[in-house]
Amino acid sequence: MAELYDEKLFADPPPPEECPICMQILPYDSRQVSFNSCCGKTICNGCIYDMNMSEGKDICAFCRTPPAESMEDTIKRIKKQIEAGNGEACNMLACYCAEGINGMPQDYQKANELLLKGGELGCADAYHNLSVSYEQGRGVAIDKKKALHFYELAAMGGHVVARYNLGYFEGQAGNDQRAMKHYIIAAKAGDKTAFDNIKRVFMECPGLLVTKDEFECILRVYHERQKDMKSDARDRYEEFNKLANTLEQHSII
Ligand SMILES: [Zn+2]
Ligand SMILES: [Zn+2]
Repeated sequence: MAELYDEKLFADPPPPEECPICMQILPYDSRQVSFNSCCGKTICNGCIYDMNMSEGKDICAFCRTPPAESMEDTIKRIKKQIEAGNGEACNMLACYCAEGINGMPQDYQKANELLLKGGELGCADAYHNLSVSYEQGRGVAIDKKKALHFYELAAMGGHVVARYNLGYFEGQAGNDQRAMKHYIIAAKAGDKTAFDNIKRVFMECPGLLVTKDEFECILRVYHERQKDMKSDARDRYEEFNKLANTLEQHSII
């Protein structure tokens, strides 16, 4: 049983999602993408930025729907997406409930229910957030076993941060080989910290946990994935964002 489970746990994750507009791989950093409640699509910030610049207004870059007029309307749109079986929408509403924002009363239990539903609907980020609930005891008793279980489900669903965390936990428990297996999957998905960990181990003890051939393959796939997640539009957005943050820090806007 354990062997079978491990086979599933360490199998190649599903292919990464693409932005429905530029068709490039979506960054796995949730700060670099946005969920649009109108059409239920997750879009890269580069495409959203370019749309705003070319249209001069804030309409959905995918379906061209104008923004919701009120927070109640946004919630209605999200709930409609949930009814249609959109796991990302469950995750979004769960975040509102957990933080008690955007018109939702603060309710961790409701948030966790939504996260479970979101995970079951295929949203790996929902499973990841549910692990955090069990890790920190948000609306549930602290339960490290359950936290680990949901990190594993998230990682198997392609969640890169969950995959990295599993590597970290195994490393802490002294299971270096299992840690390395998780780090390799995370690094191949473009995760820098996981890649740096592998590089350090390889430099210190070449061949012990990673052979030279394996390391070269990881290096190549890591760089390819990093490149695939970049685009001119995403760089333009990053530049704009940096500038906006600087201006804000200096209270210019
Ligand atoms: Zn895009
Ligand atoms: Zn839309």
